[in-house]
Amino acid sequence: MSTNFLEEELHRKSVFRPKGERYLDIEYVPQTMPHREEHLRQLARIFKSVIESPSNTSQKVLIHGNTGTGKTAVTKYFGAMIEDSARKRSLRIDYKHINCRSKKTEYLVLLTILRHYDKNIPKRGFSPSELLHMLIDILEAEDRHLVLTLDEVDYLVRTRGPDLIYDLTRLTDDRLNAPQRLSLITIVRDTTFLNVLDSSTLSTFQKNVMKLEKYTASQLEDILNLRVQYAFRDNTVPKDTISLIADIASDMGDARYAIELLWKAGKYADSNNAERVYPEFVRLAKSEIHPEIRKEILDALSDSQRVLLLSIARQLINKKSAYITIGELEEMYQIVSEEYSIKPRAHTQVWTQIQELEHHGIISTKISGQGYRGKTTLIGLPEIPAEQLERILTKYMKSGEYI
Ligand code: ADP
Ligand code: MG
Repeated sequence: MSTNFLEEELHRKSVFRPKGERYLDIEYVPQTMPHREEHLRQLARIFKSVIESPSNTSQKVLIHGNTGTGKTAVTKYFGAMIEDSARKRSLRIDYKHINCRSKKTEYLVLLTILRHYDKNIPKRGFSPSELLHMLIDILEAEDRHLVLTLDEVDYLVRTRGPDLIYDLTRLTDDRLNAPQRLSLITIVRDTTFLNVLDSSTLSTFQKNVMKLEKYTASQLEDILNLRVQYAFRDNTVPKDTISLIADIASDMGDARYAIELLWKAGKYADSNNAERVYPEFVRLAKSEIHPEIRKEILDALSDSQRVLLLSIARQLINKKSAYITIGELEEMYQIVSEEYSIKPRAHTQVWTQIQELEHHGIISTKISGQGYRGKTTLIGLPEIPAEQLERILTKYMKSGEYI
């Protein structure tokens, strides 16, 4: 038989340990979190009272910080800690972590929490307030305390308003003498979202505000070194490769970008049959990965939003301009919709979707000034070269793979 490519592939050496890549997955919660011990301790101090008397205390915490500063990882890590302490004491305390970028409505958030307790709850047929009451009933009946993290809640509040926050905070505040059933950790990128809350809710959160600062290059090196030990074979990742990644990612202070670069550089090393992850592979990785256009963002978009975004990128390339008008976008959108066999949305829906893409931080819009007839909305891509976005999106939409 001629070359057995499968055998060749199976014997090929990888810079990764067997199953090592999972330590570089963004969902992976690290076993140790350098430079976040103080924050974990602070959470422990806040929640000590909940462990001591779960039915008399409820805590509200607000965590903010840029992307990749460890907000999600810190809270999940803490969630595991609190469940562990509760288990040791046979307390009925649960931790639930919900990302509001994928659970986009109050209804979906509440349904997800409820299904944690009762898998048989039908997906439809209730109002949010009915779901809320069902949740209270379950917590009451089972004498439970739920520590709920609403991650990226600014996204939900911006599109849907603050009702969910009100409902969940008042769930306990209104019932002073009744047992406390719910503690709330909210996570946001920046605190401007607080402006929409009423003053009493605001002050509830302001008691416990934690800011996670951007990581410095040397902190990023510590984080990367730990991941390298888990994910890569010994001596496959040179020191200057780590320093280079840390330097690149320290602009944004973003550990996720750093870890993504490390992973992608490893993939380049493998596809080049290299023994080590040389700095050149980091440079290649950097040209491919964009810190703002992340897989989880693409995952969170609907098919028609992705088609719309691709249309924006294509038309910007086509027009060689900084901005396009909605009219220009819609021309391209017709073509791209056809290419992807999607029924194009009507004008008003296109408009709504543009606003949603802007909420995600991918595009920006402004009202036209001089040089345009009448007032029209202009759409631009401040964060990423249009060609890079087109490449990432096309691959994602054709294969489901992110780069
Ligand atoms: P955020 O939610 O603030 O955007 P994440 O918690 O998702 O950031 O962190 C981004 C990535 O970096 C995750 O893979 C996370 O495990 C990792 N990470 C962040 N901070 C640390 C740390 N101090 N130690 C180890 N890994 C970290
Ligand atoms: Mg996060």
